[in-house]
Amino acid sequence: MKTPFGAECPHFYGDYFRGRNVEECRLLKSDGQAWSRDLCKFCPVPEISRANACEYMKLTAKVGRPLSAAFMRRVQVSAYCEKSRKKVTEPQVGCGECHALPFKFEIKP
Ligand code: SF4
Repeated sequence: MKTPFGAECPHFYGDYFRGRNVEECRLLKSDGQAWSRDLCKFCPVPEISRANACEYMKLTAKVGRPLSAAFMRRVQVSAYCEKSRKKVTEPQVGCGECHALPFKFEIKP
């Protein structure tokens, strides 16, 4: 579903049927964290989901105030691969277990 800022996010839920106005982030909600719609604006999850659809990678999100964002509230994401059982340092790329990195391209004459 599209977030209030237009990005497709698998964790956003909005119910606007017959005057309802229910919105929530199910990723933050599953961790018991409070969500407000402004968090979607700079959230990295839609981009990660677009780049990597691996079924084994599980995202965990928390709301923090990083120094780089001048203490603004931001969603910070960490990823874990349930197949390789290790932390994924670059969620957009994946852990490399299923798709070996770097990719090898052969150009034949
Ligand atoms: S905060 Fe991030 S993960 Fe949550 S609904 Fe918004 S874009 Fe999706």
